[in-house]
Amino acid sequence: MKTYRKELWFNTEARMALINITPQVEEAVRESGVKEGLCLVNAMHITSSVFINDDEEGLHEDFLKWLEGLAPYDPKRYKHNLTGEDNADAHLKRQIMGREVVVAITDGKLDFGPWEQIFYGEFDGRRPKRVLIKIIGE
Ligand code: ZN
Repeated sequence: MKTYRKELWFNTEARMALINITPQVEEAVRESGVKEGLCLVNAMHITSSVFINDDEEGLHEDFLKWLEGLAPYDPKRYKHNLTGEDNADAHLKRQIMGREVVVAITDGKLDFGPWEQIFYGEFDGRRPKRVLIKIIGE
């Protein structure tokens, strides 16, 4: 069995951002040489997410607005911020958007449904953060 590991690094200008990372994941699959297997992609931080959805700008605005409604950025609102941090909202946003995705690799390609794309969701950016890609198979 082959295994392959790669890290992607992000440092977003905005505090929150949704970034389509499908091309980078496809590149990792090519680099791995795996034709049949599984590809795990996970955020390595507890204030960012990796998720699969549609690459549609309006939907991305909807996600950010919806998340802000559920967990507004408001440093005084949360117990976690009594530690001196201001990112409780980002922990909550990450939890609902998820930590990781697993995509099947078939014939050397990510075996997606018709509209599936992989996104990095940043909820407490403006600093270097990582995503892990792990690929296993033959
Ligand atoms: Zn925190």
